[in-house]
Amino acid sequence: MTEEVLYLDRVLWPVTALGPGNRVALWVSGCRRRCLGCANPELWERRPGQKILVSKAADFLDRIWREKNPEGLTITGGEPFDQAGGLAKVLECSKASWGDVLIYTGYKREELLRDPYRKALLLKADVLIDGPYIEERNNPSAVLRGSENQRIFFRDAQTEKRYRKYMEEGRQIQNFVYDYQILSVGIHQRGERLSAEAEAGRPSGQTESGRNRRWENEGGQK
Ligand code: SF4
Repeated sequence: MTEEVLYLDRVLWPVTALGPGNRVALWVSGCRRRCLGCANPELWERRPGQKILVSKAADFLDRIWREKNPEGLTITGGEPFDQAGGLAKVLECSKASWGDVLIYTGYKREELLRDPYRKALLLKADVLIDGPYIEERNNPSAVLRGSENQRIFFRDAQTEKRYRKYMEEGRQIQNFVYDYQILSVGIHQRGERLSAEAEAGRPSGQTESGRNRRWENEGGQK
């Protein structure tokens, strides 16, 4: 039987702008929703070089977990729930014990519950941030969310308490040097991400996805 594959664009560490603590953040590739003003349009299309076996992705996450001792895992994209089966398997195969798993989605939670594969991934999330990005509703008071229509669901009161405390600090932005380019990570105001990266020296319109990187040759983010 052929092993399932995922399309992953990047894994970064330590990310503090997408949830509490020092986290591993993983960006999947591929999204059919095409929200106007999406901060990551370079992740709409999947590319052959982003393909990775589920077992290899799980090993990769385990290695980062062993070496870095992260406090959480954030999965974003792209649309994670368009690869729900593969991502759920990665989390099942991984031996890592994440403090919490936060997953972003453009779907509404109710839609996810109607599909068995999406529901299986949803059940692995400690925190879910759902709903499409609506540019006109991008409001700085919507911490951890791109627009204020998006909702946050917590697995339990303890997780909610930890997140509420983190969210008191407001939106956060981090700049990473990634493959000789600047990558701005976090929840941005309208158009802020691309202008921040352009200001920091990334050539306009150039995206890391365009490199057609192959996971087999990557040493991973350190
Ligand atoms: S769901 Fe997310 S990744 Fe997809 S277009 Fe909307 S904002 Fe962009």
